[in-house]
Amino acid sequence: MERHQNYIDGEWVAPKSKEYYQTHNPARPQEALGEFPLSAATEVDAALAAAERARDTWSEMPVTQRAALLLRFSQLLADSTNELAKIITLEQGKALCESAAEVTRAATEASFAAGEALRLCGQTFPSERPGLTCYTVLEPLGVVAAITPWNFPVVSPVRKIAPALACGNAVVFKPSSLTPWSAVFLLTLFEKAGLPGGVLNLVIGPSATGERLVSDPRVSGISFTGSTAVGMRIYECAARRMAKVQLELGGKNPAIVLDCQDLDGAASQIVAAAFLCSGQRCTALSRVIVEDSLADPLVDRLLAHMKRICVGNGLEPGTTMGPLVSREQMEIVAGYVRRGIEGGAMLIAGGHMLTADPENQGYFYAPTLFDRVSPESPLALEEIFGPVLPVIRVRDAQQSFQIANGTRYGLAASLFTQNPCLVHEFIKRVKSGMVHVNHGTASQPHIPFGGVKDSGQGAFSIGPTVKEAFTNLKTVYFK
Ligand code: NAP
Repeated sequence: MERHQNYIDGEWVAPKSKEYYQTHNPARPQEALGEFPLSAATEVDAALAAAERARDTWSEMPVTQRAALLLRFSQLLADSTNELAKIITLEQGKALCESAAEVTRAATEASFAAGEALRLCGQTFPSERPGLTCYTVLEPLGVVAAITPWNFPVVSPVRKIAPALACGNAVVFKPSSLTPWSAVFLLTLFEKAGLPGGVLNLVIGPSATGERLVSDPRVSGISFTGSTAVGMRIYECAARRMAKVQLELGGKNPAIVLDCQDLDGAASQIVAAAFLCSGQRCTALSRVIVEDSLADPLVDRLLAHMKRICVGNGLEPGTTMGPLVSREQMEIVAGYVRRGIEGGAMLIAGGHMLTADPENQGYFYAPTLFDRVSPESPLALEEIFGPVLPVIRVRDAQQSFQIANGTRYGLAASLFTQNPCLVHEFIKRVKSGMVHVNHGTASQPHIPFGGVKDSGQGAFSIGPTVKEAFTNLKTVYFK
């Protein structure tokens, strides 16, 4: 089994403690995939010191060179699609086609970020006083911490690292401890692209490693994607020293169905958005809010589309849904299903593991549908992060919008309707960072992405808003 290392100051280095942990394939949990460093404060310190040394040279490098380097990385990433997709599927579980799409998407986002290096523009202003030139410039933050979850082990890091580098920052990256192999692979590509030592550093380890990183005063910007609970903790920690944050957190994204003539089209989009990545997506549609008169036919169609989902090992051809990422995630999902049944929700499909011995046969969970779920049920309010879709029946549009806004989250929301008045009402009333009409919750690689309420804080990622996340504005009065 291969032993992997941290990447600090342009070198692959072992942790001082010489301690490592193993990762496993969630489709065959007895299969160990590799050994990875259990980094501690020493490694975080070394990575931050390297980033501090490298940041000025990197920010002063001509922007065309920075952009060219990021474009080289983007091309190397695209060229590695097959190899990296297999690594994603092995360590995260998702179907191989989804993993390949993730790599392609990451390469496109990296090429967009490369272009952003050339668009770090300020503004000029006319002056009220003669002889004064007034303008703004965008300056890098300095050292940025990038902390990522396990559900998108390639696109999530690239979405942070590429724009942070494009804006002239040095980066220390801590991936989820469940998916460090993808992170190691990404670093080899940055190395091949010619990134100078110290500009990007990888520190692998548990949550304590992340905590140590975000608490360090040398970190002036934190880009974090993960749970709301951890995001809030990081926000508090950053506030104590006024570090800039970009927090991309959980969601409980509603699919509202009202006055809709194309129920089959709606069901197809909802099922795809709910069960991709086994429902382990922040933007997964995770509750359906449907007007009473359409509920029965919609549930029939949801079931019909769910029956086409083929659950299995993500590496096998034909698989459209892989296992859950870990035993812990499987138990969380099973717990919500149990509480849903106890609370009186009507189980229509699934609701159980698909293997008798998950530790040997994999963490496979059946696509699950609940009907007649109360809006107060944990199934309807909390982020489950698994293949569980609750249906909530409502009397009218007003009640649907009220329920849609009735959770702590505000990431993405979809409306399926042919009624233009409802479309305008939905766009105006639903509190969400992203809204979709007659469309699942798929995003695009150049369009701002983010949430409101407990789903996010700071500038949106992807697209032109990344400059706001990774630079400071400076105003100049020049006589
Ligand atoms: P998580 O437990 O919050 O962990 C996310 C990352 O933070 C991991 O690298 C984790 O390390 C690290 N971490 C944990 N505790 C920390 C602390 N106190 N200080 C610093 N770092 C810490 O989330 P997850 O289970 O990996 O991911 C699922 C969550 O991510 C869901 O809530 C999902 O909605 C959210 N998500 C949001 C978006 C979005 O764009 N809004 C996208 C994807 C996922 P370890 O892995 O080593 O514990």
